Amino acid sequence: MRIYDDIQLDYQDVLLRPKRSTLASRSQVDIIREYNFKWSPASVKGTGIIAANMATTGTMEMARVLQKHNLFSALHKHYDAKELINFLKNNKEQFGNNDLIFISSGVGQADYAKLEEVMQSKLINNICIDVANGYSPYLIQYVKKVRQAWPEALIMAGNVVTGDMTEDLILSGVDIVKVGIGPGSVCTTRKLTGVGRPQFSTVIECADAAHGVGGMICADGGCTVPGDICKSLCAGADFVMLGGMLAGHEESGGELSSKFFKTDEVTLEENGEVSYEIKEKQFKKFYGMSSDYAQEKFYGGMKNYRASEGKVVEIPFRGPLEHTLLSILGGIRSAMTYIGAKRIKDMPKCATFYRVNRQLNNIFGAE
Ligand code: 5GP
Repeated sequence: MRIYDDIQLDYQDVLLRPKRSTLASRSQVDIIREYNFKWSPASVKGTGIIAANMATTGTMEMARVLQKHNLFSALHKHYDAKELINFLKNNKEQFGNNDLIFISSGVGQADYAKLEEVMQSKLINNICIDVANGYSPYLIQYVKKVRQAWPEALIMAGNVVTGDMTEDLILSGVDIVKVGIGPGSVCTTRKLTGVGRPQFSTVIECADAAHGVGGMICADGGCTVPGDICKSLCAGADFVMLGGMLAGHEESGGELSSKFFKTDEVTLEENGEVSYEIKEKQFKKFYGMSSDYAQEKFYGGMKNYRASEGKVVEIPFRGPLEHTLLSILGGIRSAMTYIGAKRIKDMPKCATFYRVNRQLNNIFGAE
């Protein structure tokens, strides 16, 4: 039995060390990066955050807002070809191009047929090929087929957590390898299967492997606060994919519901009776794409050889996305000034980490 003794870290296990820098203010840093890829000749400009291709975050409404801030979206795979083409047409009229949009594909025959139909429209060049287990032989076969069919496409594919498979995928035609198994906020893979790897160590190893062969990575899952995104970019992630951090907003998918809570506050009425204050709180549903709920909703039930690897949660409604986005972008700018990185691309070379036992002081709550 082989056990890797090297310590495996999550974002929570490290903090960035501040450094003396010549940057006087946050406005001096540039958070837009120009991306050039190994296979695709496309050149794309954006801040490398991508909305996860989950039914609740990879929505068209979300994509519209994210693009205004130069952020990417991976649309979920449950839109049909017509809906996608329609959206891409309108989006191109509004933003001039669809550079910040990925369409998603599984690796089945129906997925390929839909991909062909959408790609024929020539409205989109970015494809996200997504399977839960990127070690499956189907993924590499499918990647090769897609690369052959569209040599100029920008292909992102995953998910894996090791350098060897990252290299294999890139050498098979992938531009961006999606890394992360089990770190997601609504993922139960680790609980159900015992498989996974702490995300910070995953990012370091896979980024190094990818960059060594001219590719890039997208760190997928596990970011809970803007600081985690900064750590990920510093660890070498070229892109960071977010689910939970973008969920629960006006623009996110998922049903909105109200719940009523009796507060601790009581009022003593003149007649001596005590009345309780009732408060309404709104919640939005957020669920893993392989949860029972998602399987039921999109496939009419869970196949009996499969088990749910995702959960359903109700998140307190967070209002419009704009506010959250500004705090994420502000966090990145500020981290860059703390470590002296003028461009996002420079973050890894400016970064030094401390390994820590505790990163936050939660005496007044976790917020
Ligand atoms: P988050 O940003 O919420 O921590 O992670 C988002 C990522 O979780 C997604 O991009 C996807 O890779 C992963 N994910 C989404 N749904 C599920 C699921 O049902 N099961 C598992 N294992 N992972 C999921």
